[in-house]
Amino acid sequence: MGLLNDVAMGWRYASGLVPFLHDAPAIDDPAGVVQAQLAARSERFIDTVRRGIYADPCSPYRPLLEHAGVSEARLEAMVRAQGIEPALRQLYDAGVYVTLDEFKGRTPIRRPGLELPVTAASFDNRLSRSQLSGVTGGSRTRGTRIALDLEDFESELASGLLWLQGADALHLPQVYWRPAFPSPSTIHAMLIAARLGAPTRRWYTQTRPGPRKPGELKGFIVHAATFVLTALAGHPTPYPRYLPADQPEPLARWLATQTARGERLYVDAIVSSAVLLCQRAAELGLDIRGHLFRTLSEPLTPAKARVIYDAGCDVISMYGMVDSGRLGMSCGTPNALDDMHLLTFRDAFLQIPRQLPGWPRPVGALYLTSLRPTAPKMLLNVETGDYGVLSQRQCGCPLGQAGLTTHLHTIRNYEKLTSAGMHFMGADLLDLLEVALPTRYGGAPTDYQFVEAEEGARTVLKLVIHPRVAIADAGEVKAYVLRELEKRTAGGRLMTDIWRDSDTLHIERTQPYLTGSAKIQPLHVVPSRMKASG
Ligand SMILES: [Zn+2]
Repeated sequence: MGLLNDVAMGWRYASGLVPFLHDAPAIDDPAGVVQAQLAARSERFIDTVRRGIYADPCSPYRPLLEHAGVSEARLEAMVRAQGIEPALRQLYDAGVYVTLDEFKGRTPIRRPGLELPVTAASFDNRLSRSQLSGVTGGSRTRGTRIALDLEDFESELASGLLWLQGADALHLPQVYWRPAFPSPSTIHAMLIAARLGAPTRRWYTQTRPGPRKPGELKGFIVHAATFVLTALAGHPTPYPRYLPADQPEPLARWLATQTARGERLYVDAIVSSAVLLCQRAAELGLDIRGHLFRTLSEPLTPAKARVIYDAGCDVISMYGMVDSGRLGMSCGTPNALDDMHLLTFRDAFLQIPRQLPGWPRPVGALYLTSLRPTAPKMLLNVETGDYGVLSQRQCGCPLGQAGLTTHLHTIRNYEKLTSAGMHFMGADLLDLLEVALPTRYGGAPTDYQFVEAEEGARTVLKLVIHPRVAIADAGEVKAYVLRELEKRTAGGRLMTDIWRDSDTLHIERTQPYLTGSAKIQPLHVVPSRMKASG
C-alpha cells in the first residue's frame, strides 16, 4: 500500500480527466438528454443488474435474489411488465433489501433461512473504473473508502446544466468552502463546473490539502493534477487554501469586497459552514449581500436558511449521498425549502413506512437503488437512513419540464439521530437545537449540539453550547432541555426521568464538534475507543 498505490491512482485519475475535459461534446439540448436518459432507465437497470450482480460471484445481492427465487430472467420480466419501482417493491417484500447496518458491514445479512457475512466492501461496484478513490468521513466511523468513476459525473451534466440555468447561476463565478481530497465531493463539484464552463475563482478548505504529512500525498497528487489539467483544458480550477471551519473571517471579508464591486458569486459550502460564514459576516458588520449559496451534505433547515437570507443572500441546494453521488437538485419553483427533483434516470427510490423506537409516528424511510453501472456502490433497495416527503408533481421549472417529476422535500436522517441506548431523539430534535435553544438563550442554530460520549464505563449525553452564548445558569438550561425532550418525545418521560436520576445529561461549553468532513451533526457520537480529533 502507500506511495505506489497513491501514484497509481493519481495516474488513473489524470488519464481519465483528460478525455473527460477535452472530448466533451457541447450539450445543446439538455432537456432532450434528460428525456433520453429517462427513456432508457429500465434497460439501463436490467443491464446493471445483469453485469453488476448476477455476473458477479462476490455480490451479496446474488444469494439474496436466489433465496427469494428471483432469477435474472424473472427480474427482467418483472421490470419490463411493471416498471422499476413496483418490481423493487416486490423484491423488498421478498426480503431483497439491505439495512444500513448490513450495508456498513456491522451485521451479517440475516433473512429466514439465510445468513450472509458481509463487509462494507462487499457492496463496492466492481464495474466502476475507480479513477478517483476518496474517503468519506462521518461522526461514527473513521471513514469509508469510496471509488468514483468519471463517467458517472458525465451522466449528471445535462440535469446540472438545466439546474444552473433555472437558478440563473450558470455564469456566476464560483467559490468553494468545502473539504479537500480525500473527501471527493469538492473535486466532483468543480469538475462538473469546469465541464459546464462555470468559472471557479477560489477554493477554501476546512481540511488540510496536503502534502504537509506523508499520508497527504494522494490529496496533493489529485489537487495538482486537477489544477494543471483543468488549466490546460481552458477551465482552470484553483488549488485549495486552508481555512478552518471556525475561522470564516477571511472568506467573509473577501465576499464583502465582491459585494462592494457589485459581483454576485456562487458560494458552494456545507450548510453549517454557510451559517458560520453568514453569522461571522454579521458580527463583523460586513455586507455580503447578493451572493447565491449552494448547500449540500446536511439538511437545509428553515432556521439555518434564515441565517443565510438574513445576510441578504439566496440559497439553492442539492441532495446527495457518498455511496451514490448526486440524488437530487433543488426545484426552481419549490413547494418547500429543500424541494428536490430526484434524478430518477440515475436512481430509483422506494419509501417504506418505518416505526422507530421513541418516535411519535412512522417515518417514510427511503431505500435506494442505483440504475447505472458507474455508481460508487452497487445499491439494490439499500436503506439510506433518510426520510422525507416523496411526491409526483409537475412544477414547470426546467428540470420538471425535462420530465423529472419525482420530488422529495423535508429530507432528514433518522440514523444520525438514533444511537445505541439513546432512542429518544425524535424528529423535533432539530427544532430544539436550531430554534428553541437559540430563541431562549441566544446564538445561532450551529451553536448547540448533542454529543454522546463514553466517560469511563458510562455513556453520557452532553449538550454542547458554544462559549459565545452567554449562559448564566447551566442547571436551568439542563432542566429546560430535559423538559423539552420529554415534551417532544413519545414515551420520553421514562427516559428523561432516568437521566435526571443518574445525572446523564452534562453541559459542556465548547465549540460544537465537526466530523472529518467538517459537518456539524445534531447528535455527534464520540467513538468509544477513539479520542475526539480534528
Ligand atoms: Zn421544479
